Amino acid sequence: MSKSVLITGGSRGIGAATAIHFARMGYKVAITYNKSVYAAKAMKETFALNGAEFIAIPCDVTIPLQVESAVKQTVSAFGSLDVMVNNAGIAMQKLITDTSDEDWQNILNTNLSSVFYGCRAASKVMLPKQSGSIVNISSIWGRVGASMEVAYSATKAGIIGLTKALAKELGPSNIRVNCVAPGVIDTEMNQNLSAQDLTALANDTPLCRIGTPDEVAKSVYFLANDADFVTGQILSTDGGII
Ligand code: NDP
Repeated sequence: MSKSVLITGGSRGIGAATAIHFARMGYKVAITYNKSVYAAKAMKETFALNGAEFIAIPCDVTIPLQVESAVKQTVSAFGSLDVMVNNAGIAMQKLITDTSDEDWQNILNTNLSSVFYGCRAASKVMLPKQSGSIVNISSIWGRVGASMEVAYSATKAGIIGLTKALAKELGPSNIRVNCVAPGVIDTEMNQNLSAQDLTALANDTPLCRIGTPDEVAKSVYFLANDADFVTGQILSTDGGII
């Protein structure tokens, strides 16, 4: 029987590429979307054309009940939840002195609390069957910090701590928890960067380019599906930039 995956923020960018990759590998795929209603609808049509089992669930990941419900809807559609990918997130570039309390709470809720809600909801389903795999999406800035991205870097560092702790807690129950820390990836998240900025970032990268969403998707799949004796790890998919 084919396995199932739930990917938060699967409507665009890295999440959408991850959904496509898991479907290619034979998984039943559930994604959540929030604002990108049309993109989610288009994905549904594409997956239907290819005969893949796919559902798109509206969900604001800052609301714990909606995340719980997305997990429940996945289990009721596919009969199980084998892999949970906590991917949804936002970026913010601001000096700390320009970062309001509201900015801080918003990015904390969207990037970090959401991962806690996703991990907790997935654990409730995976623990009784004593199997499963969780992959969280951090960032290289969670490892080394980025100037003018204090809040973003803090949320992504928090995901690393959460991943390492949860891997220890769930390991004895045969549930693996890992993390991908992407470098600069070509998605809408980086659309505010100028061509000059992107070239400079590519030049700073040993592989001399920025990455693609599909390259991150392959790392997520490796950790989720193939890395049977790997847990609590942070895989930098970053062209060697750090
Ligand atoms: P995009 O901006 O392309 O996509 C972001 C996704 O997150 C969308 O699917 C969006 O859904 C979803 N999302 C945002 N806020 C919410 C919310 N409140 N509730 C539900 N879904 C939400 O970003 P990327 O694909 O680039 O980023 C994906 C992840 O990868 C993020 O966690 C990001 O921090 C991380 N990352 C990205 C890097 C990059 O260079 N691109 C580098 C390192 C890490 P919708 O549009 O439906 O609202």
